[in-house]
Amino acid sequence: MSVVVVGSANLDFVYHVDRIPAPGETLLAARSAQYPGGKGNNQAIAAARAGAQTSFIGSLGNDASAAILRRELKLATVKAHLRTQDGPTGTALVTLDGAGTNTIIVNAGANGDFADLTSAELDAIRIADVLLMQLEIPMETVLDAARAGHEAGCTVILNAAPVRELPAQLLPELDVLIVNEHEALILAGLADTTVRSAPNHAALELLRSVPAVVVTLGENGLLVARRGAETVHLPAFAARAIDTTGAGDTFCGAFAAALSEGTDVLHAARFAACAAALSVQREGAVPSIPDRAEIESHLH
Ligand code: ADP
Repeated sequence: MSVVVVGSANLDFVYHVDRIPAPGETLLAARSAQYPGGKGNNQAIAAARAGAQTSFIGSLGNDASAAILRRELKLATVKAHLRTQDGPTGTALVTLDGAGTNTIIVNAGANGDFADLTSAELDAIRIADVLLMQLEIPMETVLDAARAGHEAGCTVILNAAPVRELPAQLLPELDVLIVNEHEALILAGLADTTVRSAPNHAALELLRSVPAVVVTLGENGLLVARRGAETVHLPAFAARAIDTTGAGDTFCGAFAAALSEGTDVLHAARFAACAAALSVQREGAVPSIPDRAEIESHLH
């Protein structure tokens, strides 16, 4: 019944402007806001809201942003194992105009220095049923966490985002790979293809390395591919999308929560698709993540 997330945490600073500033220009923002972010942080909160006992292992800086992120994790009932590193917490600076165009600058900060898992961190991984990771921290740390989790019998899930090449040693440690269409095509070496069924081909290709692959397709739903079974397309749940930021993170967290209860990959994916569809109907990443009661009331 427990999920451990190893990954990134950022504080996002969002500035709402009439238009994106030109080089050298100073603009006044109509308003600004701060939000907790980072894929690891978001997915941990999504898993906790979906009902799993959830831990988050991450790395923060020595600054005021860290205090905000700690508080948000606590509010979400996530058990936090957080290091404090010298230097800044990861941040994202987002400018957003009225038409939805944005620019984003990310400083990885303490996420980029998150290396050499301690024995306490490794123990926190080993006791979980499901380990969930992304790629916003050093690959070595992902690999160490995956090895510890796999050896201890956790179900190991990698959300390969932001996409980058996966080391060959990582693949045998994984039970489930979750990628969006763009990431699937890149990882499968099919980025140049224009074939309509390319996501299916990519899923089959990736299945050679990992026993189960989920390819999310935005409003078109998702593909669930498992070795020895037909690939299944699940349509998206109907939603009036306002802000799709964080749909993928909500999906991953809810999926991990469902798997931790012993649900099979297909039903976990359906549960997660329902959670993600609810999240796109509200603004913001973390504020839009639904809780279990809401997911269950929309599932049938
Ligand atoms: P990412 O944000 O990682 O690119 P996707 O856009 O593929 O991920 O979205 C993840 C999942 O969220 C999808 O598989 C789908 O189930 C759900 N989803 C995304 N956009 C919508 C939408 N407009 N309506 C309903 N569900 C959606």
